[in-house]
Amino acid sequence: MQSSLIPVESALEQMLEMATKPPRVESVALTQAAGRVLAEDLFSSINVPPADNSSMDGYALRYSDRLAPLPVSQRVAAGHPPTPLKPGTCARIFTGGEIPDGADLVVMQEAVTMTAFDDVVVPDSIKQGQNIRPAGQDIRKGDLIISAGTRLDYRHLALIASIGVPMIKVYCPVKVAILSTGDELVMPGNCLAPGQIYNSNRYLLQGFIESLQAEMVSFVQVSDSYDVTLSALKKASEQADLILSTGGVSVGEEDHVKPAVEALGKLSLWRLAMKPGKPLAFGKIDQALFLGLPGNPVSSFVGAHIFVAPLLAKLSGLQRSSTEKLTGVVNFSASTQVRQEYLRVRAVWKDGQWQLDLHPNQNSGVLSSVVKCNALAIMPPRTEVSPGDHLDFWLY
Ligand code: AMP
Ligand code: MG
Repeated sequence: MQSSLIPVESALEQMLEMATKPPRVESVALTQAAGRVLAEDLFSSINVPPADNSSMDGYALRYSDRLAPLPVSQRVAAGHPPTPLKPGTCARIFTGGEIPDGADLVVMQEAVTMTAFDDVVVPDSIKQGQNIRPAGQDIRKGDLIISAGTRLDYRHLALIASIGVPMIKVYCPVKVAILSTGDELVMPGNCLAPGQIYNSNRYLLQGFIESLQAEMVSFVQVSDSYDVTLSALKKASEQADLILSTGGVSVGEEDHVKPAVEALGKLSLWRLAMKPGKPLAFGKIDQALFLGLPGNPVSSFVGAHIFVAPLLAKLSGLQRSSTEKLTGVVNFSASTQVRQEYLRVRAVWKDGQWQLDLHPNQNSGVLSSVVKCNALAIMPPRTEVSPGDHLDFWLY
């Protein structure tokens, strides 16, 4: 393991390389599948629509019969199959009704006139095929409709329903164990004794991973004790695919996470060239990946965005992670040294571009800045920006 600061990009690359455990697969009903990741390529075994049908309420006829008044020989409503169309007649048809064999166009009802004998006279302007939705217009039998690795939302579910599939194979949610360390931590709902603060990171991480459809399988808050930390980590490694801890990962006498991980498994990365979030650790305990985030709430927040999101994406079988970088113009001055910095900014679309306002307090303990802002601007090491310069950023 290196002792110098590790650049963020190479750290993330190493983490993703170690995230090799293939996700488990289960079958779920379509009604339970929103937000899940599809585990199979889905092909259609039918045409959609299955048969030619009318896109209008009107009359179906043969183009070659168009010149004479046409008696109505049948009535075709949606859901009721027609009989072949008798030559020299037309069919009363409603939207979604199947086109009778022989008919090759539909005239909308507003466009026809009726004779005294209730025969139908159609206008001159009609064309073959008009107002017919052909079989397979939406999906053809054999088409790939959704690829494995797609996160399913209501649009996908509707499309899958349209090919008549009630159950699908999806990846099981990634199991995450969350561990908060710190003698000072108290859960909301309790009174603060002198020296104590409320545990906010637990809510940050649980909310974050659940927004990415992972499942929190355990949560523990541990005191700053090596033995307690060791046994909590051991237990977490038996339950989870990914252990997320906060705090206790620095070099203070009260920081027990790093030695505990080294005793139980392997620590592969420690101390990254980033701000906030330098004392970040990554490794493995048995089959579980371990990511130790620093305790400062903003450090945990930044670490979650940079590392937890892509790790969960890979572990969940997602084909693509959705964090897309944008570029904006800054209206502030800033400079960095050896670490890549993540600045809390407010991004506003104005005058045809993203404009980035810096939050005045970039201290990693100032969690309110995360709520007041909506983006993290990325300042590479050894950069300087002044008003008018550009920076990449993520909207969160
Ligand atoms: P540590 O990384 O353990 O040295 O913690 C760094 C700072 O983050 C300290 O001021 C801790 O009190 C604070 N901190 C650690 N864990 C949490 C937490 N779960 N919620 C809020 N603040 C925390
Ligand atoms: Mg601590």
